[in-house]
Amino acid sequence: MHRNVVKFGGSNLKCKSDLQKIITAVKSYENPPVIVVSALYGITDKIIGIIKNIHQKETSVQDCVSEITVQYIEVLNENIGDINYRAKIISEIEKRAEKLTQFLQGIQCIEETPDFLSDRILSYGERFSSVLLTGILNFNGLKSGEILPEEIPLFTDGEFGNASVDFEKSAPGISNLFPPNTICVVPGFYGVSSEYKVTLFGRGGSDYSAAALARLLNAKTLDVWKDVDGFMSSDPRLIKTAQKIDKLTYKEAAELAYFGAAILHPRAVEPLIEAKIPIRIFNINKADEFNALTEINCHENHHSDIIKSVTFSEDFGVLKLKGPGVGIKPGILAKVTTLLDEKNINIRSVITSQIAINILLSAKDLQKAFETVSGMNLQAISEIQQRDGISVIATVGEGILEKPGIAARIFSAVARKNINIEMIAFGASQVSAYFLLAKEDCFEAVSEIHDEFFTNPGL
Ligand code: ASP
Ligand code: MG
Repeated sequence: MHRNVVKFGGSNLKCKSDLQKIITAVKSYENPPVIVVSALYGITDKIIGIIKNIHQKETSVQDCVSEITVQYIEVLNENIGDINYRAKIISEIEKRAEKLTQFLQGIQCIEETPDFLSDRILSYGERFSSVLLTGILNFNGLKSGEILPEEIPLFTDGEFGNASVDFEKSAPGISNLFPPNTICVVPGFYGVSSEYKVTLFGRGGSDYSAAALARLLNAKTLDVWKDVDGFMSSDPRLIKTAQKIDKLTYKEAAELAYFGAAILHPRAVEPLIEAKIPIRIFNINKADEFNALTEINCHENHHSDIIKSVTFSEDFGVLKLKGPGVGIKPGILAKVTTLLDEKNINIRSVITSQIAINILLSAKDLQKAFETVSGMNLQAISEIQQRDGISVIATVGEGILEKPGIAARIFSAVARKNINIEMIAFGASQVSAYFLLAKEDCFEAVSEIHDEFFTNPGL
């Protein structure tokens, strides 16, 4: 039987009453789904804060842990009236809280935080959520059982903080573990290395957990529940005329997620492409309608005006390596990127010319990358600059490279507002064009491009 894998994340777990909406959603499925759940809203950030402050003398581990568990227990109190029933679930939460306390005391005692412990500790937001959700579903007559990633086992490549699933190693016999007549609840965000060490999939990684499970189970669909109306033609908080997008291809969704659309983790797409498993986005506030708002699959469907969405991200910085001939001298880029990789700095894109190599990074990595490359003393590089305070705007749609005139329309729209474009990448991806500009110009540029394609389409 092909099942639906369903993901409920922090945006569905913001307030105590949200669990009732989740129950409505789960009841809408014809067959018991496999559910991947992430931590309650804000809990992972809280645990990160605890780890950061743990080496200060006045920090009490017990207090920090109860500050977390109390939030889960409040949700239980709100959703389960029966005290005895509740007590059983609370006792499991307390057991896990005890473990979490021990791990935190461990790092407090050794006065450092090894990666393997930090990953383990951070997985507790999800571990509490899965006990909570399993308990509440059972209380509502929806037969459910919890399955932990280490029981599956969901094996990874072992990289702490940013692991990838090892699909071949994880695959054998996995379906047998998931009884078809029971809802199976799996905590997201982590898998285990071959030595069974917890390895996280990176921030927001539960979407990736869900996608990985969908692939391993050869699921019918991956359903991601959010608290908004699916993918939109731009950020509806800024662009009031933004329209819902009914259909996207995998490539379009991945590019949109990569360039700022917060609705889906960019890595959630990659495991599903080969198996052609569709991703559907639902809105938890319309759980009773059970209506997929955006569907992502492999079927190309060109928008009449090509561009389906204009998205942006402020999480970029550029490291500029200048010198006559850097663009043609062999080996420079290789040396720089190897060292950045060793320092765990992820390169998001590279744009080169004869006299400059521009490396696009996450804003948080810029300073460290600047210091790293400055320390290399590369002969060919005469100047290194860092550019922060920028935004990247991406226009996304299948066919962007094929239909003439699209680039002209994008850049004329920006020019109409007299906005300076600092760098452009067109053609690197089959479905998107993106460019860099000063942060303060971002909104006006997005708005003008959106108008160009959505208010006056086809002009
Ligand atoms: N709780 C984790 C985070 O906040 C994973 C997730 O939400 O998907 O990053
Ligand atoms: Mg999340």
